[in-house]
Amino acid sequence: MLCDVCNTRISDGEEEHITPEVFSFLLDNGFGIHESNIRMLTETGIPRHDAEESLKRTYRQSSSDWLLCTQCVARAKAILAVENERWVTTNYIAVTQTAEEVGMGFDIIGAPVALSRDVWNECVKWTDQDSELQEYQEQDARLWDVLFTGGGTLQIKVNQFLARGFHNYSVVCIPRDGTSHGAIKVPLLIRQEEICDKAWLVIEKAGKAVSVDD
Ligand SMILES: [Zn+2]
Repeated sequence: MLCDVCNTRISDGEEEHITPEVFSFLLDNGFGIHESNIRMLTETGIPRHDAEESLKRTYRQSSSDWLLCTQCVARAKAILAVENERWVTTNYIAVTQTAEEVGMGFDIIGAPVALSRDVWNECVKWTDQDSELQEYQEQDARLWDVLFTGGGTLQIKVNQFLARGFHNYSVVCIPRDGTSHGAIKVPLLIRQEEICDKAWLVIEKAGKAVSVDD
C-alpha cells in the first residue's frame, strides 16, 4: 500500500489512519499536498496558488480516512503539537478544561466548550513572533480573557440563555493581525451546537469589532 500524501510504499502494519476532519485541519496548516502533485498541475500552466487551492478542494471532498506513512505522520504530529490544543473539527477547538477552571456560567450549563477557528486565531492564539511584531502577550491569558468574560456574563444571564439558546457578549483584546498595538472590542456569541453527536457550547464571532474608545 502507498502513503496517500507522498506515495511512499508502506509496509504492513506501519500505516496510520487520519480522519478526514484532522486531515482537513492539517491542510489548513500547510500539510498534505505533495510537491510532485503541485508540479503536475503547474507544468500545465496553472499558477502555483491555484494548483494548491484546487488540490485542497479535491482533498477535502474525501470522506474516507487517509493512510499515511511513518514520515508523514511525524510531520503531521509536529503541526498538531505546535497548535498545542485539541481540534474537535477543523472549525472548532476544544477549550473545555479552561472553561471548567473559569466555572461560573460554564459550570451552570455543564457542557464541553469550543471556540470557533476565527475566535481562536484572532482573540486567543499568540506566539513569540506575535509578541515581537505587536505587543507582549500570553496565549493562556488571552484564552482566559475570552472565557472569563464569557462565563461571567453568561452566569448573570443564564435564564435568558436557556430560553433563547444564545448569549451575546464582547471581549477586549489586541487582534492578532501582525500590526495592531491597541485593543479592540470583539462581539462574541455563545450558542449550543451539536458536534460529533454531543451538545457543545461554542463561542464564535458575532459581527464587526469596534474601537475600544467608542
Ligand atoms: Zn508519506
